[in-house]
Amino acid sequence: MIIFGSRTAYIGSKISSNSISCNHCQTKGQITYSIFRSHAHIFWIPVFPIRKKAVSECQHCKHTLSFKEMSAEMKKECHTVKQETKGPIWQFSGLFLFIALFIAAGFAGRNDKENETQYLLTPLAGDIYDYKTEDSQYSTMRIIHVSKDSVYMQLNDYEIGRSSKIYKIDKEENYSKKAYGYSKEEIKTMYDQKIIIDIDRE
Ligand SMILES: [Zn+2]
Repeated sequence: MIIFGSRTAYIGSKISSNSISCNHCQTKGQITYSIFRSHAHIFWIPVFPIRKKAVSECQHCKHTLSFKEMSAEMKKECHTVKQETKGPIWQFSGLFLFIALFIAAGFAGRNDKENETQYLLTPLAGDIYDYKTEDSQYSTMRIIHVSKDSVYMQLNDYEIGRSSKIYKIDKEENYSKKAYGYSKEEIKTMYDQKIIIDIDRE
């Protein structure tokens, strides 16, 4: 399967000045410079342009030349045409898509953090706190009761080595029946010290 590649698109052309003559049939002012621009694509979505390419064709005898085959005078004209011919914006569409996704992900991440701060300030029974243990394992605790200054937690009996796998141990039967009380101040400190790494609310 082709994931990454490049393609070329025709982006415009211009006829030469009258001083240019075809090196094949000597007709003057009949050379057309055609400009192509290639772009990188990922899964067939154009991501960004790579380079421009120019060819010339005589309208009279159809003789074509690549850029390096052109005379110095033609090269000079052709170079200007190349610079003036702007490629289409769609050759950037993948880039815009990635930027949009990146911004969306940024917003989602910020929302997540705002929610967490909110959960921290107004704890509710049922909130699940993911935390890092002293020996760098991960586990969870669950609020079962909230008083004015404290929260009471049921600890998960299980630990897991990777924070991304915490969901695997977050099961009803893993929570011990016993509750431990923490002051809200202690909880905040644990959050600030990144011992509590995530807060989830149903
Ligand atoms: Zn010609």
